[in-house]
Amino acid sequence: MQYLPIFTDLTGKAVLLIGGGHVALRKARALLDAGAVLTVVSHQFETDFQHWAAQGKAVLVQGDFQPAQISGHWLVIAATDDDAVNAAVHQAATARQVWVNTVDDQDKCEFIFPSIINRAPIQIAISSGGTAPVLVRRLREQLETLLPQHLGPLATLVGKFRKNVQQKLDNFAARRQFYEQVFSSKVVSLLQSGQPQAAEDTLEQMLDGHQPLRGEVFVVGAGPGDPELLTLKALQLMQQADVVVYDYLVSEPIMQLVRRDAELICVGKKAGAHSVAQEETNALLIRLALEGKKVCRLKGGDPFIFGRGAEEIEVLLPHQIPFQVVPGITAAAGCAAYAGIPLTHRDYAQAVQFVTGHCQKDGKEPDWQSLSRPNQTLVIYMGLMKSAHIQAQLLAAGRSADTPVAILENGTRPEQRVFTGTLGQLAALIEQHQVQSPALLVIGEVVALQKKLAWYGAQTPRAQITPLN
Ligand code: SAH
Repeated sequence: MQYLPIFTDLTGKAVLLIGGGHVALRKARALLDAGAVLTVVSHQFETDFQHWAAQGKAVLVQGDFQPAQISGHWLVIAATDDDAVNAAVHQAATARQVWVNTVDDQDKCEFIFPSIINRAPIQIAISSGGTAPVLVRRLREQLETLLPQHLGPLATLVGKFRKNVQQKLDNFAARRQFYEQVFSSKVVSLLQSGQPQAAEDTLEQMLDGHQPLRGEVFVVGAGPGDPELLTLKALQLMQQADVVVYDYLVSEPIMQLVRRDAELICVGKKAGAHSVAQEETNALLIRLALEGKKVCRLKGGDPFIFGRGAEEIEVLLPHQIPFQVVPGITAAAGCAAYAGIPLTHRDYAQAVQFVTGHCQKDGKEPDWQSLSRPNQTLVIYMGLMKSAHIQAQLLAAGRSADTPVAILENGTRPEQRVFTGTLGQLAALIEQHQVQSPALLVIGEVVALQKKLAWYGAQTPRAQITPLN
């Protein structure tokens, strides 16, 4: 960044302007608008300069520029049509470490004048650092049409109440919530329709009667898809929410159960598809809660199992936003039950491990030895893409190629598909049946029981498995 934008207060400050022609006049106007006190050095002066001198806003010095004139000034502007004079002004000013702007000569500028959009007290300054002035002008025109004229009066009005608001509302979150309410209240339309007094009265009443709305976030597990697997608590909170922030895993029939007039915001989360960045989701939850809304963060399965639920709660803490966490039936439990696979069984599996097929950030591999032990069940979330790798690693670590496996696609939903086979066939089965997300991989001897225990939905053809007994 070659230029650092700063806003300077020039009220009552002495500024030296060298030049009295029309270019100098343009600069003089901007400086006088900002309250600067001008000394103008030139042989001739445009008539406006004479008026300003008569009003005491400018001192006119007729004659040549003298370097000594610089002392006592905060800024210098070289605006003559003589390059040699401008160069001399620039040199004299920089030698004295006084900021200088040389009109139309960027190399001799220690500071530049940006293009300004003025909705005082709100100001927007734009600059291309002298590279693309036409583009800057276009940008300015576009922004001018975007920013309503009442923005200035609105900022002035809330500025007037700032101290009172600070006294009445002692924490940042409450103040922010109050201002958010003001900006979407009729204060704005009153200003728009030219009724500043009524706007001020309304704002005063709002502050007097302000009861901070308590925003809250419910982090709710929606289970694997069948709406009847929702907990009572999940349903209650879904019905209370003003806004539901959900991701793609939450099934359509479950979405039908949220409060009818709740605002629905989808934040994606589908492997390979566009999704909202986690930081954006976090920021969204904070914003909505600070607006005083009851926010239901509805997540597939259980929020604390491969659900990033903790991350979404952690960001609420600094803002003192209250929250609740409602567990949901995680995909492993739900999908295995609906497929007829007991995840543990006295005879076949004394342990079950839930693992993610997604690589860790640092590309670190899981402990394949521990995952390959017999007499335990392995449930792999998000494992479709990596199935060939998972298969190879488990075999290499000693798990038998005959170990029964199941692929559970869309578990607990009407479109559920279950494929079984052996570890040696895992990737081929997925390929053969074109299995789609969401799907779970279940690996272990318990899968053999699926033949006997399957009860839900249409039974799909499956590869032959070796009976266990
Ligand atoms: N928090 C969720 C898991 C989120 S990770 C939970 O506790 O269930 C997303 C992965 O969960 C998917 O890639 C898939 O592996 C699994 N999954 C979720 N719902 C599923 C369903 N209905 N059928 C099969 N797998 C599912």
